[in-house]
Amino acid sequence: MPLSNALENALNEQVGIEFESFYSYLAMAAYFDSQSWDGFASWMSLQSSEEQEHAMKFYNYVLDRGAIVKLPPIKAPSYEFGSPLEVFEASLEQEHHVSSSINKLYKLAQESDDFATVSFLKWFIDEQVEEEKTVSDMIEKLKRSGDNPETLLLLDQVAGARKPESGA
Ligand code: MG
Repeated sequence: MPLSNALENALNEQVGIEFESFYSYLAMAAYFDSQSWDGFASWMSLQSSEEQEHAMKFYNYVLDRGAIVKLPPIKAPSYEFGSPLEVFEASLEQEHHVSSSINKLYKLAQESDDFATVSFLKWFIDEQVEEEKTVSDMIEKLKRSGDNPETLLLLDQVAGARKPESGA
């Protein structure tokens, strides 16, 4: 069954949103690197790689369904932040944006009776729960540490210990 035009367009838009996410995490990694927060920088760099993988999952899915990949323009991300907490808050906002976009896609796939796309999107629905939780946890820890330099340094090390997700 071919993809409907509406789904083809929405999936292509999602490729762009995932690349925007990749781009934005890359800018966050650069910010942390420039401030010598090596652990946070490594965390953001891993996150940006995951977003690129997400974008490619959508890209490959569009191709697998015999539709056309039309890469949309992507927005330039913010690159100035006031603190590690501010960066992670921006990250959570972005994850909310991605989740809401995936939810809309899921609804569209259901309304189009496109069960292959519904099934494909399930992984992303679960993944977003995980993404929001990970970022929210970090925000809580950063809030708790306030401006205490020792705690911030410890959190930077914790963030630096993050390993790439297998199978993402
Ligand atoms: Mg993603």
